[in-house]
Amino acid sequence: MITGNLQQILSELPEHVRLVAVSKFHPEEAIEEAYRAGQRIFGESKVQEMTAKHEHLPKDIQWHFIGHLQTNKVKYIVPYVALIHSIDSRRLLEEVDKQAAKINRTVDCLLQMHIATEETKFGFSFDECREMLATGVWQQLTHTRLCGMMGMASLTDNAEQIEREFCSLHNFFTEVKQQWFAASNAFCELSMGMSHDYYQAIQAGSTLIRVGSNIFGERDYAAH
Ligand SMILES: *Cc1c(COP(=O)(O)O)cnc(C)c1O
Repeated sequence: MITGNLQQILSELPEHVRLVAVSKFHPEEAIEEAYRAGQRIFGESKVQEMTAKHEHLPKDIQWHFIGHLQTNKVKYIVPYVALIHSIDSRRLLEEVDKQAAKINRTVDCLLQMHIATEETKFGFSFDECREMLATGVWQQLTHTRLCGMMGMASLTDNAEQIEREFCSLHNFFTEVKQQWFAASNAFCELSMGMSHDYYQAIQAGSTLIRVGSNIFGERDYAAH
């Protein structure tokens, strides 16, 4: 089932869009099946769970961290994480930089933007992000590289609202790229779109979709 689901999604993806297979709460056997089908990018939202999976599974897997990241746990993922999607404060970015400097590694990061109506989601508002960039502090960081932005649309059936939220993020991404990253080829990723809304996200300019349940089935939260 996993292999079929994966191939179905990949067959529809435009060339400039990459798939992050969100394997959180799923066992290592599920990841191994997707790996055998050729998938190499996996997304996780818990530090302990991702670190255990990283230790057990093939070393050419690219682990993307997509959940809320606490500063005291940064050090556990910095040695191996391929991309952190969820930088939601200047303090967190500075902590990633500090831990990465200790082991002389550069860690790729996305700024998480709050575009949904739900209060529960993390991320910068557009104004908070503008303010953070205007401080210039991030330009002094030597062991993190800002590669773009991530966002989650509201959990709603209203397709127009989802479209509006994704488009607003794409517009903001373009604004920030022009103002601060015009000379940076690395600042090119827009991570948006999940199982129920990735078609719309691609329409709105996503370059990384994060798909879990459409590949692996429903998550068994009770088992954790
Ligand atoms: C769990 C999760 C996903 C995947 O959600 P699905 O609906 O299962 O595709 C994507 N992004 C983030 C940030 C998540 O936490």
